[in-house]
Amino acid sequence: MKLQNKVAIVTGGGTGIGRATALLLAQQGARIGVVDRTVDPSLETVKTIEQQGGQAIWQRADVSQADQMERAISQIMQTWGRIDIVVANAGINGTWAPIEDLQPEEWDATLHTNLKGTFLTVKYTVPYLKQQSQGSIIVVSSVNGTRGFSLSGATAYACSKAAQVAFTKMIALELAKYRIRVNVVCPGAIETGINDHDSQRRRLEDIQEPVEFPRGNIPLTGGHPGKSEDVAQLVLFLASNESSYITGTEIWIDGAESLIKG
Ligand code: NAD
Repeated sequence: MKLQNKVAIVTGGGTGIGRATALLLAQQGARIGVVDRTVDPSLETVKTIEQQGGQAIWQRADVSQADQMERAISQIMQTWGRIDIVVANAGINGTWAPIEDLQPEEWDATLHTNLKGTFLTVKYTVPYLKQQSQGSIIVVSSVNGTRGFSLSGATAYACSKAAQVAFTKMIALELAKYRIRVNVVCPGAIETGINDHDSQRRRLEDIQEPVEFPRGNIPLTGGHPGKSEDVAQLVLFLASNESSYITGTEIWIDGAESLIKG
């Protein structure tokens, strides 16, 4: 097992990419601290890990709230006694709308969850990673805002995802001397429930470019989106010692979708 005796925190571990990641890291021996704001999906993740012979706990927190994050991470530290791996994954699509229509509070909601949430997750875990004199942080960004800019209306989302890449590079350099690696994964279309959670779209037909790829918009698969488990495998690689010389870099995982769509 690649992560024996390690402890991993996964934000947004209740569903989708976070859940698949929590399950895979647990299968590789890590004890998991799930941080998520939803009750039933988070408990389901914990139950599944336990049924598979692993160990996990859930801490309820909104990643955009400093007090809740500080408390959740300190609880996980008290339970497991160490933190080695941090997956800053929790995120929302938020509101996609023309710029005149996008409300300031909608902009804030997206940036608060996706970007401030990443900052708080890393801020409150770094002191514990430093205690181990090593660690791996993996941020979950997107193709949108990093390679793709054609999803007009998703401006707040794309900006939050672009900023996560800058954040990763800043922190990778800052933490390198502590042997803490920081990398960012940028998925393309992945089959999850993200479009059903905190996802509003308004008047996109007014602004989106009339470009369609009826077939082959994901060249590697002939159009089929990726799975959460595909992203989880990449996160596992970045969490494990097999990537011990990799830090401060983004990796796209999108079947070449962003190369054709841009
Ligand atoms: P998802 O909706 O299935 O999972 C997101 C999880 O984050 C949920 O469990 C949710 O409860 C949690 N969450 C959301 N806001 C939170 C908050 N404020 N505090 C605590 N928990 C919160 O979505 P997913 O597709 O698994 O998305 C995970 C990450 O992957 C996101 O950052 C998303 O932007 C990114 N991503 C997804 C896709 C895709 O196609 N699904 C593509 C690129 C990037």
